[in-house]
Amino acid sequence: ATPLAIAAGIRTAAERGIVVAAETIFEDAPDVDTVVLDKTGTLTTGAMAVDAVHPVDADETGADELLSCAGAVEALSEHPIAEAVADAASASAREDAAADAPAADSPTASDVESFERADRGVSGLVDGERVAVGHPDFCRERGLAVPAALESRVDDIRAAGRVPVAVGWDGRVRGAIAVGDSRREDLEDALETLSAGREIVVLTGDEGPAAERVRDLEGVDEVFAGVPPEAKAETVDRLRARGTVAMVGDGSNDAPALAAADVGIAMGGGTKLATEAADAVIVDDDLAAVAETLAIATGTHRRIR
Ligand code: ADP
Ligand code: MG
Repeated sequence: ATPLAIAAGIRTAAERGIVVAAETIFEDAPDVDTVVLDKTGTLTTGAMAVDAVHPVDADETGADELLSCAGAVEALSEHPIAEAVADAASASAREDAAADAPAADSPTASDVESFERADRGVSGLVDGERVAVGHPDFCRERGLAVPAALESRVDDIRAAGRVPVAVGWDGRVRGAIAVGDSRREDLEDALETLSAGREIVVLTGDEGPAAERVRDLEGVDEVFAGVPPEAKAETVDRLRARGTVAMVGDGSNDAPALAAADVGIAMGGGTKLATEAADAVIVDDDLAAVAETLAIATGTHRRIR
């Protein structure tokens, strides 16, 4: 391998906003025949927003309380959903302050569990109470009962193409927050380029209609939905049995899968764990740069041989 060709490849990539973290990418990129894409933050922009807050029993726990408790916990997570919930909570607190509502101090959370760990939600202590925020299963696994009314609300939220975020404490899930995301504008074009000569697999921890709709995207060959974080890396391993795999992700829970893939590419808006596990990082969060990363690395490889 000529160091000059590699240096040139690294420079070309950098000019395009791609940071090469591992030179092995020049060896592996030419053979990539399967590209695995994470959904939230990769196919979607990662800029998510709260659409609605639904308490199970509004007399017991109001929408404001639900949102502020959830926001306190989510303030400590880097997930795109967490940012949306924390932003909505602080916006609603600001509105209250502007309206001179009785000074309800925004709560803060401590002792946060699974901060920076691969998981399907977060939990933290708010006013001495452990509050869990995440996938309904995440709350269930923490011993919180999911009322039947919430189950059907979760189905409605999913049917509307949104992600349901369950919020619960003291034995019960108290409500759900509907969080929406939007597809990247250049999604179709980016998929078309990327899928030329390669199999495209989408891997998502999300499930329901929003996840299923991804199947209809031109260029997408296979979708694995409802994949828990620990199974993402296993899926990449299974795909590696039949080819050379590139994994593209943004989240902490994508980090093991990014490391397991032959080529791991992290989206720029991603978490520290994701970028540390990747062979290349796309700085400005541009999906089209994924195909370019592979093209630049492949071109460089030809020059080193
Ligand atoms: P994807 O694989 O589509 O990127 P993730 O694996 O990051 O999605 O998340 C899967 C699911 O886990 C989300 O749809 C959401 O239900 C839940 N989840 C993960 N992290 C959080 C969080 N910080 N707050 C709320 N829900 C979360
Ligand atoms: Mg993600």
